[in-house]
Amino acid sequence: MFTLITPPIIKPYKDYNHKYALDCDYYSGPGYGAGIVTALLRKNDISVKVIDYFVRQQLDNIQDDFFWQDYHNQINFILKDGTYPGLLQNYVNTIFKKEEFSESTTVGFSIHSFGHFVFSILLAKKIKEELNIPIVFGGCFITCFGHLYPEIYKWVNLIYKGDIGESFISEIKNGTQLPNNTTYDEKGIDFTSIPIPDFTDYEKQYRQISNNKIIIPYEPKRGCIYNCNFCVNPYSKDNFRFKDINQIINELETLKRKYNSNLFQFCDYNIGGDRDFLERLMTAFIKHNLKIKWRSHLSMGNVDKELLILLAKGGADSLAYGVESGSEQILRKINKGNTVAKAEEIIRLTSNANINTIITLMVGYPHETDNDIKATLNFLEKNNSYITNAVVRIYSVMEKSSIANNPEKYGITNLTKLPMRFNYSYDEINGLTWKKKQLQITRSYLLTRNFLENK
Ligand code: SF4
Repeated sequence: MFTLITPPIIKPYKDYNHKYALDCDYYSGPGYGAGIVTALLRKNDISVKVIDYFVRQQLDNIQDDFFWQDYHNQINFILKDGTYPGLLQNYVNTIFKKEEFSESTTVGFSIHSFGHFVFSILLAKKIKEELNIPIVFGGCFITCFGHLYPEIYKWVNLIYKGDIGESFISEIKNGTQLPNNTTYDEKGIDFTSIPIPDFTDYEKQYRQISNNKIIIPYEPKRGCIYNCNFCVNPYSKDNFRFKDINQIINELETLKRKYNSNLFQFCDYNIGGDRDFLERLMTAFIKHNLKIKWRSHLSMGNVDKELLILLAKGGADSLAYGVESGSEQILRKINKGNTVAKAEEIIRLTSNANINTIITLMVGYPHETDNDIKATLNFLEKNNSYITNAVVRIYSVMEKSSIANNPEKYGITNLTKLPMRFNYSYDEINGLTWKKKQLQITRSYLLTRNFLENK
């Protein structure tokens, strides 16, 4: 039996705007990745048991205890021993029950964030040492950054990058002994052939934690055609693709019936990009009288009043825009293809179309100044009544982003890996040293966060 583990919530910072995340995407429904892995394995007659620590954590009401920031500087210790005294270790010790794994032949972890990664190491060590079951780490965090942590092979047999492919499925099906110390990077199942997610095992528990509602994750398209230079989008322009409209309608209708819910989360960094696709999709939703409510991330590039009216008719409930900054010069620098005036216009039009308007901001971009932060605060003040919810995040230069690949082009130098290994400290050329930049970032974060908290 393949046992699939979904880690609990581990928020980035203690004061992170958790409410934003509940309104916007994750932390509010079953995980898409775990759902499609379950469906794919079952479709191939492999028996699967899902252990969803996220939903268990919610039912036990201990969701506020874990934060990535407590482990930023400790990852080397954790990778050395596979243990780290503290809240998360206590939690792992409490939830680990040998009997839950009595029929497991392989254990897979679906890892989406650094926090998930820390939890997974602590639990993988216990499983390996006490039960010696082969372990696989996968999920988007592992796809992007798994190669940075070779020490995990002490407890993990293989690191799986990207979507599951045929050869992995047949190895699991045939009970082939998984190779040790291996990175699997085969061509995954074609996106359009991925089955609808299966979370029948824990549907009831999700209903229990959300007033009997269930938000169904679904992926109508993939990839993004934009080139924001800070982004680590795992799917490049070449991989921009979408499912056939009829297939989408059929799958949404099936999911609606199966889970008796009309609420959907479209798992996509940017459901827009191809306006023609989005218009055809909405027209089909209306024509088929689909009557669903959906939410997703959308870039402002192609959006206008006409499209927003169509999206509202097609069931758009919340749209999350990456506004990033209220400073014209920062928007120019990050190559977002947006202006402050455009962002203001779209926020107002979205609100006027009766769609919840979510925005994400970031502080700490190279050469961002105190004046840029003032511009962001002015932007928030001016547009406050049109914004349903917002979050500010601290930007850091991430491995694989355009900035990390061409630092001088973006006016930074002396890139040095930070303890988490996937991001870098830097000095601004003719600007702040990293030491001073950190102080400025903290100041900017607190100013913006305090504004949002009192919104
Ligand atoms: S629009 Fe969003 S997903 Fe696309 S490149 Fe920019 S930040 Fe990344």
